[in-house]
Amino acid sequence: MAVCEVCGNDYDKPIEFIRDGETHSFDSFECAIHMLAPRCEHCGCTIIGHGHEAAGRMFCCAHCAAQAGVEGVSDRADELSS
Ligand SMILES: [Zn+2]
Ligand SMILES: [Zn+2]
Repeated sequence: MAVCEVCGNDYDKPIEFIRDGETHSFDSFECAIHMLAPRCEHCGCTIIGHGHEAAGRMFCCAHCAAQAGVEGVSDRADELSS
């Protein structure tokens, strides 16, 4: 039994994530994402996939990185289509 760190739900099948040696318990992926997923610096959406890390900043996609003034980042989709 573990209490979700986000919403406080006491759930008998918790999801546990270990980050930096600390265990975090959640009742759902939604709550886990809410707490652990990085957020795009430009549009603020949660980054659930790989995202783009540029100059120590996290973005959901190359478009957002470019909008925020980071150059030299491109989506793989762009590379394949060009
Ligand atoms: Zn929860
Ligand atoms: Zn974004």
